[in-house]
Amino acid sequence: MKSSRRQFISKITRGLTAVSILPISFSKALSISDDLGLSKPWIELSKAAYLHNASQISQMAGGRPVIAVLKNNAYGLGDVQVAQLLEQSEHIMGIAVVKDDRALAIRAAGYTKPILLMGDFDTENASSLLQNRITLSVFSQASFEKVKQTAGKTRKPINVALYLDTGLGRMGIPFQEAVELARAIANTTNWTITQTFSTLTTPRDFAQEQIKRFERVIKELDANKIPTGTKHLAPSYSILDVSASHQDAVRPGIMLHGSFPLMDRPESQRYPLQLSYRLKAPIIRLEKLRAGETIGFSRFYPIEKDEWIATLPIGWADGYDSGAENGAKVLLGDQLWPVVNVNASHTNVSLGGQTKFKVGDVATLIGPERSEITPEGFSKLVGGHNYLQINYKESITKHVYDTF
Ligand SMILES: *Cc1c(COP(=O)(O)O)cnc(C)c1O
Repeated sequence: MKSSRRQFISKITRGLTAVSILPISFSKALSISDDLGLSKPWIELSKAAYLHNASQISQMAGGRPVIAVLKNNAYGLGDVQVAQLLEQSEHIMGIAVVKDDRALAIRAAGYTKPILLMGDFDTENASSLLQNRITLSVFSQASFEKVKQTAGKTRKPINVALYLDTGLGRMGIPFQEAVELARAIANTTNWTITQTFSTLTTPRDFAQEQIKRFERVIKELDANKIPTGTKHLAPSYSILDVSASHQDAVRPGIMLHGSFPLMDRPESQRYPLQLSYRLKAPIIRLEKLRAGETIGFSRFYPIEKDEWIATLPIGWADGYDSGAENGAKVLLGDQLWPVVNVNASHTNVSLGGQTKFKVGDVATLIGPERSEITPEGFSKLVGGHNYLQINYKESITKHVYDTF
């Protein structure tokens, strides 16, 4: 038994990039003058901010527990790392992901609380998923058959989540067919529905209709004595917008990282969140460009007077929004400096006619230090949406801090 688990872990870790299997490091913040010969961007995560946000979200939901949605590599911030930080919060009852290999990777890295897979799985991962106590979603008759085949003749209890489509139209069993499917699950020996869930849309009237549909299904299952387990519906938007969405637990993603799905809501005053991460990059080139020169493939930025231009080793291919060249700023030293060009792998910052900076000094592109470099401030400067600022590439190294 032991050796098969070890084999499994080595299989999983071999499939991961180096980033995900690095032990989480607690290190002191690098000051801008530390010349460590750095050549790549990195992300810093604050444990204190994650614990604070989990607690605030639970309060927004009347004290209910939180299931952290860490899909898309926790929006690029590192699902393994964020899972391990959030696990330490009493308000976090578990996490949810969409890809089977990420569920396995997070478990292999030592996460012990429940993991819900809100998507389908590859048959070759099936037995690992069950061995590693990943809760599988049943969202169609076919997926029920698939989980059944996976479970085979095991006598062990099989816990599944019943995934309902109440109107998002994307995943889940259409609510009209849910009772029939739930009955089939409940009639299978050793099987239990430990969670029943769906996802709300944003228009409030329709979200309320979805909640009614959901509750009608639950009522019918209750009447048939079919257990439905923990019930949850609400992404961040609905947590704020419709209190009937709170059910037994809430299921935020974006708010855990410190951003509200809508800017300027009253809740942001009442339950302030903390930005949980910084995006940083060192200067790798610093040159005084002469009047008349330009920067960028399209000669995007003209140099009008001699100007110091710093190059940072990060671009839109790393997940930094290319819109930054339309007015975003970065923090370097104790001042903000304009971004003047973003390419796939490089970003240029103007440092003016004279500079005290040098190659190796570190810029903060996103962080809590100044309102202009928060996701909200950034999107105000460039005219985008705060939600979309967070989508960083998995290869960016993560460093974990107790606090910022
Ligand atoms: C993304 C997602 C969430 C969380 O959404 P946020 O807007 O980031 O809070 C919750 N449930 C499901 C099914 C999702 O896909």
